[in-house]
Amino acid sequence: MFPHLAPPILIEAAHQFGTPLYVYHADRIRFQYQSLKQAFSNWDVRFFYAVKALTNLQILRYVDSLGCAVDCSSINEIKLALKAKIACEKILYTSNGINFTEIEEAVTLGVYVNVDSLSALEKFGKRFGDSYPVGIRLRPNIMAGGNLKISTGHAASKFGIPVEQLDQVLALISSYKINVQTLHIHTGSEIKDAEVFVQGIHLLLGIVANFPDVCVINLGGGFKVPYYPNEKGTDIHELGHALATLFTDYQQKTGRQLQVWFEPGKYLVCEAGYLLTTVNVLKENEMLTFAGVDTGLNQLIRPMFYDAYHHIENLTNPLAPVHTYTIVGNICETDTLGANRSMPTIREGDLLSIQNAGAYGFEMASSYNARLRPAEVLYKDGTLQLIRRRETLEDLVQTQESL
Ligand SMILES: *Cc1c(COP(=O)(O)O)cnc(C)c1O
Repeated sequence: MFPHLAPPILIEAAHQFGTPLYVYHADRIRFQYQSLKQAFSNWDVRFFYAVKALTNLQILRYVDSLGCAVDCSSINEIKLALKAKIACEKILYTSNGINFTEIEEAVTLGVYVNVDSLSALEKFGKRFGDSYPVGIRLRPNIMAGGNLKISTGHAASKFGIPVEQLDQVLALISSYKINVQTLHIHTGSEIKDAEVFVQGIHLLLGIVANFPDVCVINLGGGFKVPYYPNEKGTDIHELGHALATLFTDYQQKTGRQLQVWFEPGKYLVCEAGYLLTTVNVLKENEMLTFAGVDTGLNQLIRPMFYDAYHHIENLTNPLAPVHTYTIVGNICETDTLGANRSMPTIREGDLLSIQNAGAYGFEMASSYNARLRPAEVLYKDGTLQLIRRRETLEDLVQTQESL
């Protein structure tokens, strides 16, 4: 277990930079990366951080410094990765539903590309033939993930080329001599059960004989991390063993050694992040005590969008008697960040820490209600470093025509 960032450090961050504030703990990101490397040390595995979880340039720089590659989901994410000085051969672009010009641009930038439709595969073949390697994202028909919104591999999902269309894939490959080097699946986010990944491996090993140029099996991201206290995440050690066994067997039977790639987003950064918020008002009604805080769904949408649980701590009154609170945001929507939470007495002015805010937190923030997006701070080598300043009203109006 890796300990949470100590309350005095979070309190100091709030004092220095104000709230609402995102704080990220560099050591935690490194710990998560090391634990992945260790769990999969029995096979030839590479990790590509799915940057959409958190794209701050300093975070990208830090992840790169650990030796981890990156997976991008838009052309701009590629450009951010390049700005963070990540080498193009450490960048993968897993597209979906994009205009082909973005794929051409990605090729010009020299990054790995995964295509996710027959249409894009055909355009790729026509344009590049066998001159540039490409990966194919398949839809494996596996239902998995924390909830339907984050499940991407099932039969009704828009993602990937359905495996039933294998014949059409092969026909395109042979008519345009496409150089397919990786087969890719990403079944969803928050996949608790290692068995789901094993199913994916079986599926891909079952069809890879049709792809003589393939040297990489890409199993995507989706490792689950605990959100509730005492909850379990994906057992990556169990998966590491199963994976090594399956790929060793396959190699012994066929003589073919396949490298494995993963694209963890949440696993690397989720638990490293804290959203710090100050309690503005306490309000009681017949049933509930509300603690109204200075953040809301504009800055952390996961509780509303996914019904996600985020653990909340009272940093400034930790030893007080426990009461039940419903912690709500300040947006003109019902933005409940935590319902019926038993926690130490909350007073107006107390500082709360919303945990597991590193992944899909700031990244999904908006300026709804014309509230400004918060600042981001990285805690590294014992110092708090501002890595994104707080927005100003000027930022909100600068893209609009003046009156
Ligand atoms: C979002 C995404 C990931 C990362 O998912 P996590 O649940 O954050 O690990 C990986 N690969 C692809 C293609 C994605 O779209």
